[in-house]
Amino acid sequence: MEVFDLAESWSREHIAEIQTLRLKSTVEQTRKCAFYRQRLDAAGLGPGFVRSLDDLRRIPFTTKNDLRSQYPTGLLCVPQSEIVRMHCSSGTTGSPVAICHTQNDIHSWADLMARCMAMVGVRRDDVFQNMSGYGLFTGGLGIHFGAERLGCLTIPAGAGNSRRQIKLAKDFRTTVAHILPSYALILGEHLRSSGEDPRNLSLRIALVGAEPYTEEFRRRIEELFDMKAYNSYGLSEMNGPGVGFECLAQEGMHIWEDAFIPEIINPDTGEVVPDGEVGELVMTCLCREGMPILRYRTRDLTRFLPGDCPCGRKHRRIDRILGRSDDMFIIKGVNIYPMQVEQVLMAFPEVGQNYLIRLENEGLGDSMRVLVEVRDEYFVEDMRVLQNLQRTIAARLRDEILVTPKVELVESNSLPRAEGKAVRLQDMRNKN
Ligand code: AMP
Ligand code: ZN
Repeated sequence: MEVFDLAESWSREHIAEIQTLRLKSTVEQTRKCAFYRQRLDAAGLGPGFVRSLDDLRRIPFTTKNDLRSQYPTGLLCVPQSEIVRMHCSSGTTGSPVAICHTQNDIHSWADLMARCMAMVGVRRDDVFQNMSGYGLFTGGLGIHFGAERLGCLTIPAGAGNSRRQIKLAKDFRTTVAHILPSYALILGEHLRSSGEDPRNLSLRIALVGAEPYTEEFRRRIEELFDMKAYNSYGLSEMNGPGVGFECLAQEGMHIWEDAFIPEIINPDTGEVVPDGEVGELVMTCLCREGMPILRYRTRDLTRFLPGDCPCGRKHRRIDRILGRSDDMFIIKGVNIYPMQVEQVLMAFPEVGQNYLIRLENEGLGDSMRVLVEVRDEYFVEDMRVLQNLQRTIAARLRDEILVTPKVELVESNSLPRAEGKAVRLQDMRNKN
């Protein structure tokens, strides 16, 4: 195992030792803000109560609403003059959540991000193009600083503007990109529609994350550009990218346990679930001084993967994010996640790069419509072929989700596109 950072090669025992020390100091650090001090005291957890890692479970959870209630600076654990940067979570509903970082926080975040990139073979002579939005979104500056830390020629291309992305990638022979999964397919199609082969770019590696996507979607991205795509997981509350990342094995994402403690809980009871069971990821940061957060309920659903990773790293792995507990929708009494629908759709070569699930009222019940973009070369097929495709997709979806949706085939590039993260679900029920 080639490592960028010694922490990558720590044993389980050593990870636990360091986590215990860092949990102690992080909890003491959080006591510097009134919110956590009161919270901990109210739970009977006075100064110095952490003696072992098991004490983590005694700490109350922190929720998004807690963070909102302390906006903008209620959770600061250092004087504001120590803060050098803030970011916001990209949530579109409710009031914002701001996370503030000291210079040390920014340095350790950049180190974690550089570690992720080095793990999948990015090196200082790579040209790295960051196709993610800059600004409050952490996928911009967060990944940027990691790439510079590694020594790559770093192009802060920003989001969208496919023509410019392609020009930059050609002019500078970009070898590594950071890209949203939904945008990767759009960019590839853009090249194809202008008669170019996306494989002719010099791209060899992509960091792909920030929104849920399936294994089928990943395969499409890899084939389209003839490159490797590695899943990148993070959230603003835990810095942003650099929390969990796939290694060369592409079998789940290692969570950097020298910097975070991950737990998976039953979202209804709050109890930790047995290893391997799906639940809500809860994260505690261990290396932050500006605004450390304890037991944050991410709402992201995943599970710990059992066994050792072939790469040799002992940091535990999580499965790709199944979705957010708040993405789940219920139709005819069945719980469904958009990713189940995506998994079915992406197995059809005729299906293009975008789809949308629309829920509507119908009579006394609800109906589910799936709008699916079809690739240009198939859209010209005769009606019977398209009707057949429509029926087959509906039948496969029914097998997967136990509800028969209405499938509507639409032309490529006809569905609305989000500026940032893709919107896969439109719930129009009870809107009129
Ligand atoms: P934000 O902090 O606003 O950038 O959003 C963080 C959220 O994006 C996470 O809580 C996840 O729901 C989602 N997310 C980030 N990375 C991934 C990924 N690789 N797969 C699935 N969802 C992701
Ligand atoms: Zn690994």
